[in-house]
Amino acid sequence: MTEAPRQVREEGRRVVLRVQDLAKHFPVKHGLFGRVSGHVYAVDGVSFSIHEGETLGVVGESGCGKSTLGKTVLRLLPPTSGQILLRGKDITLMPERHLREQRRQMQMVFQDPYASLNPRMRCGEIVGEPLTIHGLASGREKEQRVTALFERVGLRPDQKKRYPHQLSGGQRQRVGVARALALTPSLIIADEPVSALDVSVQAQVINLLKDLQRDSSLAYLFISHNLAVVEHISHRIAVMYVGKLVELTDKKTLFRSPLHPYTEALLSAVPVPDPGAKRDRIILHGDVPSPMNPPPGCAFHTRCPYVKDICRTQVPALREVTSGHFAACHLRQPPAPA
Ligand code: SF4
Repeated sequence: MTEAPRQVREEGRRVVLRVQDLAKHFPVKHGLFGRVSGHVYAVDGVSFSIHEGETLGVVGESGCGKSTLGKTVLRLLPPTSGQILLRGKDITLMPERHLREQRRQMQMVFQDPYASLNPRMRCGEIVGEPLTIHGLASGREKEQRVTALFERVGLRPDQKKRYPHQLSGGQRQRVGVARALALTPSLIIADEPVSALDVSVQAQVINLLKDLQRDSSLAYLFISHNLAVVEHISHRIAVMYVGKLVELTDKKTLFRSPLHPYTEALLSAVPVPDPGAKRDRIILHGDVPSPMNPPPGCAFHTRCPYVKDICRTQVPALREVTSGHFAACHLRQPPAPA
């Protein structure tokens, strides 16, 4: 059973985003005539869904395809194959002129708030710009809505007049969040939104995102390389490795009983707050394989301490091993039907 259809059946919770077998492959061109000599399999057959008021964390090492996944879901990159449903509407191949309306429902918060904000615009103009572009408000009404957005993200109204360089990193990220909220989206894709911030400020921004979610049932796709940050904000966590999801479940289950050897290794590196508690660190040998030339079979087999012969030839499917807990590993099979 794939992950997405199962969740659509869950009662009482509306699915905001459903992604089915999504792939994004980049052609690699060589020579004078740009001959295609291969592909980078950045995202390769990813399925998941996100409900109202839910945060799905996507975690993995850098280069695993998680940022490409976020951009492809937003249609900033055209998907190679698969399906993206936003509130039940198929936007996979939707023409740009229709997509613009749908994009109001999906906004992005970027990693580096400084690079993602126009340095020549005042912060109030930055937050109000989406309202102008989509023709939603102008003049006094726009001004009032921008002021309300500033207050909602914990900024003072007088900071509307400041330029991005006149604010701290955390304040700039709040401006980025206010801009994303301007169109009252139902989904925010946050790509490493706190990794450029000081540790002390990270918690403030994460708590802001959680407060906003509590108030408005926003859904988040929260992308990060940092499992501790993802744990703090997510309801469920998807672990990504070389373009594929290898494990997906609720955060408690993931931290208590991971099923995939790669997740085990990632968790072993997360610091434990209790100095008396001991966690054996699993050191993975070898490098992350290139997504241009992923190993045959299970992409993790070159580093897996439990590798078997079958792992070198057969790709393990993401299967529901126990209720709501999915893993892609030949060692983890669902129980046989009685
Ligand atoms: Fe390891 Fe094999 Fe499982 Fe891959 S399928 S994670 S190589 S045991």
